[in-house]
Amino acid sequence: MLKGKTALVTGSTSGIGLGIAKALAAEGANLVLNGFGDNAGPQAEVAALGVQVAFHGADMSRPAEIEAMMKFAAERFGRVDILVNNAGIQHVAKIEDFPIERWDAVIAINLSSAFHATRLALPAMKTANWGRIINIASVHGLVASAEKAAYVAAKHGIVGLTKVTALETATTGVTCNAICPGWVLTPLVQKQVDARAATLKISNEEATRLLLGEKEPSMQFTTPEELGALAVFFCSAAGNNVRGAAWNMDGGWAAQ
Ligand code: NAD
Repeated sequence: MLKGKTALVTGSTSGIGLGIAKALAAEGANLVLNGFGDNAGPQAEVAALGVQVAFHGADMSRPAEIEAMMKFAAERFGRVDILVNNAGIQHVAKIEDFPIERWDAVIAINLSSAFHATRLALPAMKTANWGRIINIASVHGLVASAEKAAYVAAKHGIVGLTKVTALETATTGVTCNAICPGWVLTPLVQKQVDARAATLKISNEEATRLLLGEKEPSMQFTTPEELGALAVFFCSAAGNNVRGAAWNMDGGWAAQ
């Protein structure tokens, strides 16, 4: 379905980003991966699906590096047809204890990076009259939790950015939507499970049950594969007129 298209997924060396990259590659899209840590393994996993893969290690908190990454993608593949703004970090602390440097980092990586990548991707998408921008927000783009001020502010912000992008492209073949996952068991969440187990002196399994039980009625993690399938739907012809949605895949979290 996506043969001949190029997708760029930020933060795709791990977790949800890698899951979405593989789902898009399985539909034939060539991929530009980005993120920290090992990139050879993720590149090999995506290449095994029979598509071309490139990697750029831009730090998504730095606008100049984002610009270099977008230039690199255009030079390598002609243009970016599908942009998935996924890179993200978390920091958990009460507002009065929240380190200023962590606030700035969360806002830069989880929100401002999507603005920069979007503004740089849009001209070529508009010229081609086809494009897909998928912002990985969170259920925290719809509702809040205590001690996650920067994350919740950034995720509500990216839902707003999604709506503005959808309006500014509404008469074109470019769409923009957000995906709002509940808990997904990736390194980002494993850290929160481990912290809870250590603080409460309980097992990892018990900490996992507590984490799910507090917020997620299904008591199940959403998987990167399920999120990848939703991203593929947004890229399909059936998604042509889905614009500005903030689609939760959260086990009923936001329904409460
Ligand atoms: P993860 O930690 O597994 O992956 C994060 C990715 O972002 C990694 O590839 C990492 O290298 C990259 N990254 C981090 N900082 C970066 C930077 N400055 N520049 C470039 N890349 C950077 O986390 P994940 O759970 O897969 O999270 C992916 C996205 O999904 C995030 O935006 C997160 O907020 C969102 N999300 C996650 C969950 C969850 O439960 N895991 C739920 C809702 C939303």
